[in-house]
Amino acid sequence: MDITVVLPQKEIPRRWYNVLADLPTPLDPPLHPITKRPVRPEDLEAIFPTKLIEQEVSNERWIDIPEEVLRTYCLWRPTPLRRAYFLEKALGTPARIYVKDESVSPPGSHKPNTAVPQAYYNKMEGTRKICTETGAGQWGSALAFACSRFGLECEVYMVRVSYNQKPCRRRMMEIWGARCIPSPSDRTETGRKILAEDPDSPGSLGIAISEAIEVAVSSKDSKYALGSVLNHVLLHQTIIGLEARKQLESIGEYPDVIIGCAGGGSNFAGLALPFVKDRIEGKEIKIIAVEPASCPTLTKGKFLYDFGDTSGKTPLLPMYTLGHNFMPPPLHAGGLRYHGMAPIVSKLFKEGIIEARAVNQLESFAAGVAWARAEGTIPAPETNHAIAAVIEEAKLAKEEGRERVIVFTFSGHGLLDMGAYEAYLEGGLSNHALSEEEIQKTLKEVNAITRQE
Ligand SMILES: *Cc1c(COP(=O)(O)O)cnc(C)c1O
Repeated sequence: MDITVVLPQKEIPRRWYNVLADLPTPLDPPLHPITKRPVRPEDLEAIFPTKLIEQEVSNERWIDIPEEVLRTYCLWRPTPLRRAYFLEKALGTPARIYVKDESVSPPGSHKPNTAVPQAYYNKMEGTRKICTETGAGQWGSALAFACSRFGLECEVYMVRVSYNQKPCRRRMMEIWGARCIPSPSDRTETGRKILAEDPDSPGSLGIAISEAIEVAVSSKDSKYALGSVLNHVLLHQTIIGLEARKQLESIGEYPDVIIGCAGGGSNFAGLALPFVKDRIEGKEIKIIAVEPASCPTLTKGKFLYDFGDTSGKTPLLPMYTLGHNFMPPPLHAGGLRYHGMAPIVSKLFKEGIIEARAVNQLESFAAGVAWARAEGTIPAPETNHAIAAVIEEAKLAKEEGRERVIVFTFSGHGLLDMGAYEAYLEGGLSNHALSEEEIQKTLKEVNAITRQE
């Protein structure tokens, strides 16, 4: 199959952009969780295929997207870039707002942009099964979809509370042939130990990660996959920004403001990174990562070496973090409840190349409902955070009487998040204010770890 036949438009990029080639100074290396020395590529071979490990540390500016990945991308890419005229009108703003719509993928978010190449490289290297964890279920369903494309088994450890609360995501995974297991489970040592102590354990992302890694390393032909944070994940997501850039160019536009919601930072970076080089070279672009006020990693966290998971099994990453023991409140935007931030995004923030903003839960849902009433589509609760910042910037443009071009990622739809909207509409949602003490407490624990060097 020639992909030019299935391409509806010519906009789909053939290469991903690697920002590591253009950073003013290199990223600090990840450290081994026990020795605290820089991780060697071979340390990662038990859990990731070599091609992804290469991409993780590559300094090549452009990396070819394999033909087979492009074919699957073509099921929903290029994604639309639309002008949000109705929202502009509702706000009476002189700003021009463009939405890059990643919700049109089969699982309904940007996550298959990386799930598909991850499944592909695993297949090429002889992996039989991929294991992963999922919180709200968006990553699990994206990986289930991707594995089904390449005939791979997929085993997803889903945090037990979400497994019970969100049966629809679990069924999506099963439709694509994956096995979705509530975590803690009796299939792993980690899970059995926790169940022995607390048979009713609600689970946590940290436990689910430990279970997925344990199963992945237990046999030679199974591997593990991560849906955000890592360099190779952000690399794959740059397809969003590269496409948007071409689409904007084709209508003679260039962004003044770029906005994305940020959990681990992948959809935000996906849109922003292809514009970061211009920003580094002096172009005036305001690039804003938006996070929940109740999990304020960039705006309230510290730049430190910290574990990627809760149980301290992953390498230590140089990133903004609230501490790996930080327990975010049970926020409805589950995809934004992560204690850390991608090292690339952290670095850009530290160097003042990008900005960050925190939005509280009620403000985010009000923005999502305003969007739905103006533009029709119902955003994921995560996406609502980006929309809240878009509205703020559009109002600012109005006050200043300035034409501004605002571009943002619509990271996913909210059609399976009606429980969250129900709580909002019935007045059952609240803002979770975090006290400074809570943040300082978990951060102190991290300081103690990294000082051991
Ligand atoms: C997972 C998810 C996010 C957060 O993850 P990032 O890596 O920060 O992009 C945001 N929006 C949606 C719809 C998601 O599924």
